[in-house]
Amino acid sequence: MNKISRRRFIQWLGTASALGALGAPSLAFPKTGARIVIVGGGFGGATCANYLKRFDPSLDVTLIESHKQFYTCPFSNAVLGGLYDMDFIRHDYDKLQSKHRVKVIQDYASTIDPDKQTVHTTAGRTLSYDRLVLSPGIDFLWNAIEGYDPAASLIMPHAWKAGSQTRLLLKQLHEMPNGGVVVIAPPANPFRCPPGPYERASMIAHYLKQHKPRSKVLILDAKDKFSKQALFQDAWDEFYPDHIEWVPGSQGGIVTAVDPKHMTVTADEEKIKAAVANIIPPQKAGDVAYRAGLTNDKGWCPVNQKTFESTIYKNVHIIGDASIAGKMPKSGFSASSQGKVCAAEIVAALRGDTIGTSSWVNTCYSLITPDYGISVAAVYRLGDKGIVGVEGAGGVGPRDAPLTTRQMEAVYAEGWYRAITADIFG
Ligand SMILES: Cc1cc2nc3c(=O)[nH]c(=O)nc-3n(C[C@H](O)[C@H](O)[C@H](O)COP(=O)(O)OP(=O)(O)OC[C@H]3O[C@@H](n4cnc5c(N)ncnc54)[C@H](O)[C@@H]3O)c2cc1C
Repeated sequence: MNKISRRRFIQWLGTASALGALGAPSLAFPKTGARIVIVGGGFGGATCANYLKRFDPSLDVTLIESHKQFYTCPFSNAVLGGLYDMDFIRHDYDKLQSKHRVKVIQDYASTIDPDKQTVHTTAGRTLSYDRLVLSPGIDFLWNAIEGYDPAASLIMPHAWKAGSQTRLLLKQLHEMPNGGVVVIAPPANPFRCPPGPYERASMIAHYLKQHKPRSKVLILDAKDKFSKQALFQDAWDEFYPDHIEWVPGSQGGIVTAVDPKHMTVTADEEKIKAAVANIIPPQKAGDVAYRAGLTNDKGWCPVNQKTFESTIYKNVHIIGDASIAGKMPKSGFSASSQGKVCAAEIVAALRGDTIGTSSWVNTCYSLITPDYGISVAAVYRLGDKGIVGVEGAGGVGPRDAPLTTRQMEAVYAEGWYRAITADIFG
């Protein structure tokens, strides 16, 4: 303790409170100087990089991210609704480099050799690691819906990774005629952000109601149930009775094919003409995890749910959407929470130590209008068979809440977004 400066000690206190119930590694351990490579600078990977350096500044942490800037999916629906512009959801890696001393390489990690403990990139780099963390997010099962391939996504955007796809969908909404139908096709579970398609429907309906009031959103769903369903449907009845129609899977909602040339979407053998088609295809772990043989037969990565180390290869940790994290949803908040726990586990393991059992958190806010929000929250713990929800902690917002609660939820949503992105990107 006497070697630790007062400033560093205060930083540690800040970290400990940010981690909440998480058992952060003890200050008394020596520094290891180990090499950690992280693939993916989104919610999971950037958090993990940042917290590794906070826990042990001697670590050599390199983050490989294919994009120069990161556009968040959270709040991208609000951009589609006209509430914010693209700059609001754009973040860069400057502070991660200058403040946290993470080395950021803009490159694409193409292959991993788990025996030699190396990562190879498309630009020809080879990086050696003592521990590797993958947080590559999702990739798509192209052609699971007939005709929906990468070329089709340039006409019928998924916008399920934010950035150019968000811009394309936004442009199409602005250019579509008044009276046109916007089809949204959400996939079956599991997929990134369970409430996301329904928040998107709400935000697009908000835009249409003001600018193209004769248009509507048609949700052709692969499922019969969805996250926060009662709250969404109550709000749609109140705000968008003429602008949103939801068709469940068992009643003809399952989209089986698309024809981008004629802008048709086939569900229940019926061809529906769309002015804008937002097809959200079924998903799997990010390609790099898949190609490294880290996925199971369903396309996701099995991990030890305490340490997030792969159950297939040693010294490789997988966090975020790509991992199978028990009952935790595939969300940015989950990924970030996992990134902190994973950082603490790695630092402890490198020092030959273990930490106590962690807990994780998640809250997902959804905006229905600019001033009306709903949420679901949960705290998670490690059970006998993996991560489970803590009974009585969190839950879906009450159905009969007064309007002031919904108004506050919209305010909290923005506060959550600003806080988590400041924590991750500095
Ligand atoms: C419309 C929408 C709304 C959402 N709203 C919310 C919300 O309100 N709250 C919430 O908590 N979550 C929300 N989510 C979910 C959230 O975006 C994801 O769960 C989260 O981004 C997952 O984090 P991740 O680290 O796994 O992946 P990402 O954040 O997607 O990060 C992955 C990164 O890895 C990079 N990458 C991938 N492969 C490679 C490679 N081989 N080499 C180099 N770089 C690579 C990618 O470029 C990307 O930057 C939303 C999602 C959508 C689609």
